Amino acid sequence: MGSYKDPAQEREYLSEIIEKPLITVHQVHSHIVYDVDEVYNELGSRETISYFRNRDGDGLVTSLDAVSLGVVTADCTPVVIIDETAGIYGIAHAGRRGVCDRIVPHLIDMMVAKGADVSHIYAWIGPHICGKCYETGVEIAQDFNSQFPETSTITTYGGPGVDMTKAIEQQLTNKYVLRKNIVESQLCTLEDERLYSYRRHVLSEGAYPNGRFFTIVAPHIAFDTVLSRAEEMNNKLAHEKTRDKIELLEL
Ligand SMILES: [Zn+2]
Repeated sequence: MGSYKDPAQEREYLSEIIEKPLITVHQVHSHIVYDVDEVYNELGSRETISYFRNRDGDGLVTSLDAVSLGVVTADCTPVVIIDETAGIYGIAHAGRRGVCDRIVPHLIDMMVAKGADVSHIYAWIGPHICGKCYETGVEIAQDFNSQFPETSTITTYGGPGVDMTKAIEQQLTNKYVLRKNIVESQLCTLEDERLYSYRRHVLSEGAYPNGRFFTIVAPHIAFDTVLSRAEEMNNKLAHEKTRDKIELLEL
């Protein structure tokens, strides 16, 4: 998680902490997934970062230990999918439109095409706005529910909403990802103030910041190591009053 003030700079810091280039795409709520490997092998770290940053899409896949993949969200769902046996890693930005457009099934398809085995796949559904908070209006809720049965909700505000976790779960199990291999974060971005929430920002009329947080998948690196490097980075940058500290959460 980093400051929302300068995302490009924040990516640099995070790449340094992880010691792997952090690859991101220009997110557009689509089903578009990219395979990072060929581009990276051809262009190397720095060029690969800028190549993908300028591509419209919402999913990334790699089999390279040398890179890390990231998405930014604030209410939409970050989804991480890995097959450690095959050494294939994927990440997606899955908002309501992206889920309807099947970003997660597309991500799995690309991973399988690269050699992943669905029976070895683990999927993590990250923090997003929960079904009790995500009010959408009746039309959207009905449409969503006809595509993903039993996902419509009544929110705590009393109106119709949708449950993104359930919809993504359905897509994963429809792709034969084993139920026991699906891990769901129980955190709601709107309710948990450690996380950025676009809707909380709007509802609070700007009292909460309009930021986004990174979700990162980085093969073969210990979270403790990343934590201590983040600490060092924060100390090094402590004089910069304009930026937030880099805060890492293991979710
Ligand atoms: Zn909630």
